[in-house]
Amino acid sequence: MKEFLVGVLALQGDFREHINILKKMNIRTREIKYPGQLEEIDGLIIPGGESTTINKLLNKYGFKEKLKGFAESGNPIFGTCAGLIILACTIVDNEKQLCLIDINIKRNAYGRQIESFEKNISLDLKQEADNRKFNSIFIRAPRIIDAGKNVKTLGNCNGEIVLARENNILVSAFHPELTNDKRIHQYFIEMIIENLKEI
Ligand code: GLN
Repeated sequence: MKEFLVGVLALQGDFREHINILKKMNIRTREIKYPGQLEEIDGLIIPGGESTTINKLLNKYGFKEKLKGFAESGNPIFGTCAGLIILACTIVDNEKQLCLIDINIKRNAYGRQIESFEKNISLDLKQEADNRKFNSIFIRAPRIIDAGKNVKTLGNCNGEIVLARENNILVSAFHPELTNDKRIHQYFIEMIIENLKEI
């Protein structure tokens, strides 16, 4: 298998934290600022931040069509928090988001910044390490209000889906990059490796 490269969308938000955790895992990374760079990478993380700002910048730089093509070619994408919103099917600012995963969400549904919280959640990654809870940090997080039948729940918090996957798209409502627990990033890396094996 060729040596792979993981991109982190670096237009706005906490992309540096994702880069840092991937570096600690000895993964080769690249900050993605232009659509043409998608051709160089094997998987992409869309970080948390402000989805309206990220959305505007995606339009400004002409990312959207390229991102769709990137996903349709089977490349894995992982969206955290605002990144989840960008990948969902919901309308924000009169504009349908990328709709690469069949979920509808409500923005800021857990309250304001001051109401941010941490919660130990159960994971279902089908790994031995699932028996340990994952400390999840929610910051003005979106809530998944409905999900299509092909969307798998990989993590839940009080019965609500907070980590989900549909084919090559992974989303979390919380911020795994703000902890030292690498299990979810590791899971995403395995999605990339699996995809490269299939090519
Ligand atoms: N509330 C933000 C939004 O709607 C997301 C917050 C986050 O990414 N931590 O875009």
